[in-house]
Amino acid sequence: MAKPTADWQSNRAAVQATNDDASASKLSCVRKGYMKDDYVHLFVKRPIRRSPIINRGYFARYAALRKLLHEFLDSEMNMDEKCNDKKQILSLGAGFDTTFFQLQDEGRAPYLYVELDFKEVTRKKAALIENSIQLRSKVGEEASISLDKGEVLSNHYKLLPVDLRDIQKLDDIISVANIDPSLPTFIIAECVLIYLDPKSSSAIVGWASRTFSTAIFFLYEQIHPDDAFGQQMIRNLESRGCALLGIYATPTLHAKEKLFLDHGWQEHYCVAIAINDALGLFKKFGFPEAENVTGASTATNL
Ligand code: SAH
Repeated sequence: MAKPTADWQSNRAAVQATNDDASASKLSCVRKGYMKDDYVHLFVKRPIRRSPIINRGYFARYAALRKLLHEFLDSEMNMDEKCNDKKQILSLGAGFDTTFFQLQDEGRAPYLYVELDFKEVTRKKAALIENSIQLRSKVGEEASISLDKGEVLSNHYKLLPVDLRDIQKLDDIISVANIDPSLPTFIIAECVLIYLDPKSSSAIVGWASRTFSTAIFFLYEQIHPDDAFGQQMIRNLESRGCALLGIYATPTLHAKEKLFLDHGWQEHYCVAIAINDALGLFKKFGFPEAENVTGASTATNL
């Protein structure tokens, strides 16, 4: 990896700040009744009110993830397969996302939920978890929390610091977090890979494909940099030192599709999701029963 420079550092801080924006926007949605989240307010210092167009965008993002996540958690093996209902969720650049806590409340939390982010962010999240009875009770009484390391380790939840561009470290995470690559795994990359250089995003998609044989890769991020909306979006982010480094390498749904196919993912469409299905668990995942999966277009109404 290139030696960190002042620029790289400020970019790193700017990218991390997008996490605070995401939490504040989610809280704005919750307060307007778009969605329920009993935890996000614990992660927001200064609540703000977003415009309807932003609230609706966040609602679409939330609804798409929820729909597919629930479908994953509800998916069952063929009757003739060995019965095993253990599933994992791996969230890349999780920020202050609260999905784990919500799934706990819903009684749907998977066997293992792992969240990764830069240490600066995991430290803050670990401190918030340690200091909130509400959050602490959800990660489990047995949890060991280290603010110094930016880690939370409990039986079913792990929060760990890592720079996602360091693929070797991602391999280490598999053993540190006790992830079983043979178990069905839902990988979340929500507004994360787009901030990385295209080589790093590509390496992460390839690593995930090689590592998890039965997995859904859920990707939600910006596309179409060249129309009026896209140009404004890029200007806004660049003015805060936060370039969308990946957007020109994969500017369309088709380019995202190709990114996954080139790395051996078997099925695909945008939001985008990509699927490896060694266990034959997912079948027509994400598609209404009647639709033909192999002929499906990349854009879908979720
Ligand atoms: N996925 C969350 C947060 C999105 S903000 C959500 O949707 O709410 C983007 C997050 O990605 C930030 O928390 C940032 O710190 C993290 N991130 C960006 N690049 C990263 C990298 N190279 N390694 C680890 N985390 C990274």
